[in-house]
Amino acid sequence: MKKTIKDFDLKNKRVIIRCDFNVPIKDGNITDDNRIIESLPTIKYAIDKNAKVILMSHLGRVKTVEDKNKNTLKPVADRLSELLNQEVLFVSETRGSFLEDSINNLKSGEVLLVENTRHEDLEGKKESSNDQELGKYWASLGDIFINDAFGTCHRAHASNVGIGSNLPNGIGFLVEKELDVLGNTLDNPIKPFTVILGGAKVSDKIKVIENLVTIADYILIGGGMSYTFLKAKDIEIGASLLDEDNINFCKEMLDKYPDKIILPIDSVCSKKIDSNEECSLKFITDLNKDDIGLDIGKGTVELFEQYLNESKTVIWNGPLGMFELEQYQNGTKKICECLSKLDSTVIIGGGDTAAAAISFGYKESFTHISTGGGASLEMMEGKILPGIDVINDK
Ligand code: AMP
Repeated sequence: MKKTIKDFDLKNKRVIIRCDFNVPIKDGNITDDNRIIESLPTIKYAIDKNAKVILMSHLGRVKTVEDKNKNTLKPVADRLSELLNQEVLFVSETRGSFLEDSINNLKSGEVLLVENTRHEDLEGKKESSNDQELGKYWASLGDIFINDAFGTCHRAHASNVGIGSNLPNGIGFLVEKELDVLGNTLDNPIKPFTVILGGAKVSDKIKVIENLVTIADYILIGGGMSYTFLKAKDIEIGASLLDEDNINFCKEMLDKYPDKIILPIDSVCSKKIDSNEECSLKFITDLNKDDIGLDIGKGTVELFEQYLNESKTVIWNGPLGMFELEQYQNGTKKICECLSKLDSTVIIGGGDTAAAAISFGYKESFTHISTGGGASLEMMEGKILPGIDVINDK
């Protein structure tokens, strides 16, 4: 068990909390403040315990001076201040005497937000390459480090691993929930355990398949990646998405686990990827050379539902069709609907799947929607995440 924020006496201590404030900002306005709202429990806890709260986060990528000027956390400080109903002191620097003085002057219960940690990437990618000097310097600004940014835990950056290596540390409530739900479920799934995989490319999910095929009872494959599996069975996939380099991998998996890997039996196809183009439902063996498979069909939905209705644990990563276009949303929507009715542990693994499920109105319908796309995928791959690994055990 990892140490958590609750394991520390925070009173009058300088507590650095690594948050995930990587929110979409357009013309200086935050268009979705969900990540800020989700960070509030940990921040409020630290305020209530009379800590001097120092918040850090990255925002976008910083490769040019233009990126640096554009990707500022100032709008986050303003929004956070509204949500907390107290002043959030914004320091537009990532190092230097102004930052140090501001922290020295911070009183217990006050909150300060440091500028985008990736401003340090402009010269030599110091943040993203976990520069030792930078990690030590940031650690010198605090007494305790709390990692509450799950979305970056799969990367060793100066603002997580760097600071964490140099201070007493723990996790915040958001990361704790990810480990409790996603981590424990992967370690100890109640059976039958079914994994749904979709999305674009097989190559992104090879390690997930290799790891989960040994743990899960069934892997239901939809989305763009299913067509490479179908091709591996010598089925005509027309102009559907094909990951040529991984046909052999799919063949191997199908040979080794013929009863575990479940593929679509029909497909919603079109001749062109366009919202005005006609689409039709075809059996999976009836695709013509110019057909593009863009969603699972209703036969596949029913087939998948049979497995899901029997499952006690379900983890889902990757939309089952090109859900950005309305005519290819049905498969993903129907599976959301089916999962929402189950009395089982249902976890949605981040990224596009989470965005799709939330946009279809299923935000509160599952056991857990993971906040980190890459991080949750790497947990599903069975990897140890560096941002978690750096945190001490109780
Ligand atoms: P991923 O990031 O791997 O989860 O992939 C998500 C993307 O996969 C989304 O943008 C979907 O539009 C896309 N996708 C899902 N199904 C298909 C499909 N049948 N053909 C092409 N792209 C798809």
